[in-house]
Amino acid sequence: MPECRLCSNFASEGDYYAQGSIEKLYSSAENGCTTCGILRQAIRELLPEQPDLQTKYVAWSMKTKDRTDMLHPTDSTQWELSLRVEQEPFVPDHDIQIYATAEDPSPWEIVPLDHHLPTSTDSEESYAFASHALNRCLNTHRLCDNPASEFVPFRLVDVGSPGESYVRVIETPGTDAAETRYCALSHCWGPPETITTQLNDTTYEDYKKGIPVAALPKTFFDAVAFTRKLGQRYLWIDSLCIVQGSRDDWLAQGAEMCKIYENSLLTLAAASSSSGHGGLFYPSARVEMTGSAPEKSGQTYRVFARFNVTHRFFNFPLMNRAWVLQERLLSPRTLYFTHQELVWECRSGNVCQCSPILGGFRAQMAGFPVNSKLQSAAKHLDGSALVTKWHEVVEVYTQLKMTKTSDKLMAVDGVAQYMSPIRGSRHYAGLWADSFAFDLSWTVDTFDESRSRSPEWRAPTWSWASMESKVYWQTKAGEIPTPETHFAVEKWPQLQQTGVIQPGSFLSIRGVLVKTTVAEVDVVVNTSPCLYEDCAEWTPSSGHTRDDEPLYCLRLLESENMVCSLMLRRTGSEGQNLYQRHGLLIFSANPNKENDTWNTRDKTRSKWSPRNYQKGYPQWWTGDSMNVVSII
Ligand SMILES: [Zn+2]
Ligand SMILES: [Zn+2]
Ligand SMILES: [Zn+2]
Repeated sequence: MPECRLCSNFASEGDYYAQGSIEKLYSSAENGCTTCGILRQAIRELLPEQPDLQTKYVAWSMKTKDRTDMLHPTDSTQWELSLRVEQEPFVPDHDIQIYATAEDPSPWEIVPLDHHLPTSTDSEESYAFASHALNRCLNTHRLCDNPASEFVPFRLVDVGSPGESYVRVIETPGTDAAETRYCALSHCWGPPETITTQLNDTTYEDYKKGIPVAALPKTFFDAVAFTRKLGQRYLWIDSLCIVQGSRDDWLAQGAEMCKIYENSLLTLAAASSSSGHGGLFYPSARVEMTGSAPEKSGQTYRVFARFNVTHRFFNFPLMNRAWVLQERLLSPRTLYFTHQELVWECRSGNVCQCSPILGGFRAQMAGFPVNSKLQSAAKHLDGSALVTKWHEVVEVYTQLKMTKTSDKLMAVDGVAQYMSPIRGSRHYAGLWADSFAFDLSWTVDTFDESRSRSPEWRAPTWSWASMESKVYWQTKAGEIPTPETHFAVEKWPQLQQTGVIQPGSFLSIRGVLVKTTVAEVDVVVNTSPCLYEDCAEWTPSSGHTRDDEPLYCLRLLESENMVCSLMLRRTGSEGQNLYQRHGLLIFSANPNKENDTWNTRDKTRSKWSPRNYQKGYPQWWTGDSMNVVSII
């Protein structure tokens, strides 16, 4: 039989990829290609709507698996078979996986063996997965131990036992913390009307007596069912445990938010729901295909198709909410309910139902960020780890969608409050006093053409919180020996509340300031240093062009192979000595390499030429007059 040019009859020597119209695939199946028939059946039975044969394409690939997948470490013939249905070539809207099980290997060698996923995240298997993960964590993970705490949230939902038709809101004063372990719910509200039960002055007394479970929004209903099934009695849900519309209660309970998540037994995260209607549980389709293959001497086969499991963390609606980040970081354990599977995360690692080995290789390879939970207070974290952890929090969080950008600092306030006693330090607009030089050295993505400062003031220009775009640090605190700091803070700005700076209050720094221009710095950019300008567009001050705009380099940090200056622009009147941040200038070089020492332009020669460069520190670094500058 001639080899099918579309499916290659599931025979492959190496990686194989083919693309064609759905129509061709279907007619090849019609004409007797068994394996095209398998692909057709997978599409027909899995897709909620039948694809339009005229406008859709299929892409079929067979490739050897990434060897970092440790699910089958001893198996040398692992393949990945993927069938994509595409609206346009290379734009998949469905990604289907073909596999067989170990009990019934298929006659085609390349069909990989895999295990089934439960057909619903509400199945007995899913409960077993969750309770096994929870018990293993509680009994064997030393990293995950929480020190015994006296803390209990002021209100909780008492879920009672399975089958009961009511739950009720209780006040906890007087209860024993050890007896009152609770789960916490992390969810997207969506339109507020989807949260049909809210604790407020009108409902308060009723809710203490009982709320019919049938009246709960789907997400709460599912969370109650799951909590009961786990054998737990208490659940914390924001809209039922904080009096809605009461500013006083919000302030009191909001301040406890970190403790609430930190001391929970387990956080249930409604990952795939964008509102209260979404719920926790989703069915997961699976197609079984059986028959006999004439081209394999009539051997029978039993293969399966399902949608490829996605682990793209930020594609889940919940993960894009900035507040969720701190809930995730603070909770000792989180169980994510995605639309395909459950994902467990604790301080010891990730594990998901499709890759049930702790360390979650599939999940982590495919985009579930490495477990970045904060370790329990003071445990396992030394100074530089805390600095790096904070940078990671800011990096992840500045790329999230924010509903209200004025919340920018508020949303990380929980993590800051948590870190503060461990570090024994405080932060100014998201920069910590005990790692201030390092924290100042944030950079922006200079490929982002829309990067800019927030039009409304929310933080001084030296803070990343003033930016509308993603920020990151070039160097991790632990990676280089403690860099030398070349400035001293003369006067800290005034704080309005924790971490929030009083508008107009400035930071005074004593350090070496050297005047330059963009043009001068740009020349050097051709060799090794890099200027990271905070904003893609800026207007030069009057009387200047972009090139001759005066800029000032404030000497910041020095390590063996990097010197880093803060780029400032003067603002206000001449006599004021007032500046704002323009960007960051980093020179890197390896002093041990003959040809890679600092290249710096000889200022006495005006024309650019390689021989006009001399070895040594850049002149923006070598000035020696100390100044006091104020930065807003
Ligand atoms: Zn075929
Ligand atoms: Zn654990
Ligand atoms: Zn998975």
